[in-house]
Amino acid sequence: MRTPVHEYLAEIRDSCYYYSQGEVATYIPELAEVDPDQFGIALCTPAGTIYAEGDAENEFTIQSVSKPFVYAMALVERGLQIVDAHVDVEPSGDPYNAMSVDPESGKPSNPMINMGAIVTHCLVGPADATPQERSDLIIESLCKFAGRKLEVNEAVLESEFANRYRNVALASMMRSNGFISIEPDDAVWGYTRQSALNVTARDLSVMAMTLANGGVNPITHERVVPEWVCRQVLSVMTTCGMYDSAGDWLSSVGIPAKSGVGGGIIGSLPGQVGIGTFSPRLDSHGNSVRGVEACERVSRDMGLHIMAMP
Ligand code: GLU
Repeated sequence: MRTPVHEYLAEIRDSCYYYSQGEVATYIPELAEVDPDQFGIALCTPAGTIYAEGDAENEFTIQSVSKPFVYAMALVERGLQIVDAHVDVEPSGDPYNAMSVDPESGKPSNPMINMGAIVTHCLVGPADATPQERSDLIIESLCKFAGRKLEVNEAVLESEFANRYRNVALASMMRSNGFISIEPDDAVWGYTRQSALNVTARDLSVMAMTLANGGVNPITHERVVPEWVCRQVLSVMTTCGMYDSAGDWLSSVGIPAKSGVGGGIIGSLPGQVGIGTFSPRLDSHGNSVRGVEACERVSRDMGLHIMAMP
């Protein structure tokens, strides 16, 4: 049934249509060849009602939007103290694939950039897990956040892994600094596989709402992670989630968020809403141009900024 919320989202879709600046990611052909005009938006409420408009059912790869969820899994399995000992929670202001470490400890700056995300990937699962077992555990958990079975985009995985050398350099540094103990190639394979999962804007809204709901999936009602984990993850998303424009995002949109180079963005407002957007053209920071615009609109129109006066 169409509701006023659908009409509102359709109006956002139409107004975002005029934003045609930005470029799709071109570092692998599978991303370079997507239709750049796609735009989808979905909102999920705590009660599990989903309002979706535009290309909200189109699939794309989750990429860096997987990072907060894998950080959550590491926290569940290892606890805050051990995870903190492996990865900082400091915004780096550096691009996602930078060598960004604390100069004294050699720890990666935060779990939302590749270096930190490779470390959190390796913290999941038993120490003797094979790369395949660790990767399967992570994907199983990402599916619980989404409330449905997600598939790996094998073509993207293959292409990204063929171009893995920068990430292998980051993983090698983490191994040399003592923060991972598995082979850099294996760590990067698993990290690349988690990034190559196909999702839709609708899935992202449910995943975002699960975090905003204290860890309970609003559709399946399954508790995926404990509440304290969500608080930690949302805090780090707030300061580090939007690449090197996290400060800009916090002041203009003011919602804990994470974006990925596949064109996806999640926004999680505790107790209120999970937002998922998808549009492949990226700005110079790697954030979806229309996604950022749409989130700004939704935040402004609905008064969602976390610093808004009650
Ligand atoms: N596959 C990309 C990488 O790790 C993901 C980057 C992103 O979405 O920020 O290089």
